[in-house]
Amino acid sequence: MSDQQKPPSRDTLSVWGGEDKKDFWERSTQVPVVHSVSFGYADMDEWLDVALGEEPGHIYGRNTNPTVAVFEEKLRQLEGAESVTSFSTGMAAISNTLFTLLSPGDRVVSVKDTYGGTNKMFTEFLPRLQIEAALIDTTDHDAIEAEVAKGCKVLYLETPTNPTLKVLDLKRLATAGKSVCATVVVDNTFATPINCNPLELGADLVLHSATKFLGGHADALGGVVCGSEELVHRIYHYREITGATLDPMSAYLLLRGMKTLHLRIRQQNESALKIARYLEAHPFVKSVFYPGLESNEGHEIAKRQMRGFGGVLSFTLQGGYESVKALLPCLHYAHRAANLGAVETIAGPPATTSHVECTPEERAAMGIPESLIRYSVGIEDTDDLIADLEQALAAAKSPVR
Ligand SMILES: *Cc1c(COP(=O)(O)O)cnc(C)c1O
Repeated sequence: MSDQQKPPSRDTLSVWGGEDKKDFWERSTQVPVVHSVSFGYADMDEWLDVALGEEPGHIYGRNTNPTVAVFEEKLRQLEGAESVTSFSTGMAAISNTLFTLLSPGDRVVSVKDTYGGTNKMFTEFLPRLQIEAALIDTTDHDAIEAEVAKGCKVLYLETPTNPTLKVLDLKRLATAGKSVCATVVVDNTFATPINCNPLELGADLVLHSATKFLGGHADALGGVVCGSEELVHRIYHYREITGATLDPMSAYLLLRGMKTLHLRIRQQNESALKIARYLEAHPFVKSVFYPGLESNEGHEIAKRQMRGFGGVLSFTLQGGYESVKALLPCLHYAHRAANLGAVETIAGPPATTSHVECTPEERAAMGIPESLIRYSVGIEDTDDLIADLEQALAAAKSPVR
C-alpha cells in the first residue's frame, strides 16, 4: 500500500474535522466549553505577539474563543476553504459580509428569492447607505448575467432558495461574476456542505445559517462564512468590531450536532425525495417544489452541482390557504414552527416562517404563494411521515364541520 492517504471524506470530517483531541484540556475527549471572556499572559512579549496576531492564542472573547475556533475549523474543512469565521446568527454572517464588502455608490446583484431577512438587507438597509441592490427573477439566468455584466461589486446567490427551492447554476453565475471582478457570495444553508460546495464551483465566499442543518437540533443559533484568507480576514475584522460573536455554548451545541451531519443529511435527502414523489402523485396537492423531482425546472442543474437534493420541500394544495389552515393542525409528526433543518419534521407557511418580514404584496411579488407549505423533513421513518401526510391530506380535503 502506498503511504499517501486519500483526503478524508466529508463524512469523516463531520466527526473529526477540527477535533485535534490531543490539544483538548486535561485530555478530555469532547471539546471543552471555554466560558471565559479573557485569556491571561504573564510574559509581556508573548501577550503582545498574540494581541498583534503574530502568534496563535486568544485575548478577548469578542474576537476569538477556543471552543468557537474548533467549530470554525470543522466548517473550514467541510467547505474546503482557506479560511473561516463565525457569527452569532446566520443573519449576522450575511449582514456583516455585505457591510464589509459594500460601500456607498456600490451595486449588488442578487435574486428575488433570497431568504426574507436577506431580502430586507437589499430593500431596506443597503439603500439607506446608497448601495443599490438589483434583484432579478431567480429562474432567469440570462437576465442575471445581463445585470451582472453592467458591473457590480457583489453577486449574492442562494441555492436552493427558500421556500420555493429554485436552483441557481453556480458555475455559470460565478463565471459571470468573475468577469466583472465581483465578489461571488453563496448562501449554502439549504444544501449544506454534504450536498454542495460552492467554493469548488467558483464562489469566493460561502455562508451558512448554522442554526439550521449544521446544528440540526434547533437548540442553538449561529452563522459562518468561509473563503480566502484575505476576504475572510476583512469580514472577521468587521465582526470583531461590530461584535456579532458566536457564543461558546452555542458553538459546542453546533459542534455536537455536526458530528451526525452526514447521517442526517443522507436520511433527509432520501426521505424528502420519496415524500416529494408521494405528494406529486396526490390529487389534493396542486404543485410540489423539490429539485430532486424530474419535473422540477432546476433538476438538471441540481443534478450537476449537488450530491443530494436536500431535506426541504414545499407544496401547495388545491384548496388554497383555507386548506393549509385545515391541514397543518392535523399533522402529528410536524412541529409547526418558523425553523428548518432539524431532526424533527417542521412545517409552516412562508407568512409565518421564511418571509414573515415581508407583506403579502411583497411575497406575491417574489412569487411565493400564500397557500404554500414549507416542509422540512426530519429524520423520522419515511413511511411514518408519508402516512401522517396521507391522513392530514384526507382530513383537510373533507374538513369536519
Ligand atoms: C434561516 C436562514 C438564514 C438566517 O439565519 P439565522 O440563523 O436565523 O439568522 C439565512 N439564510 C437562509 C437560507 C436561512 O434559511
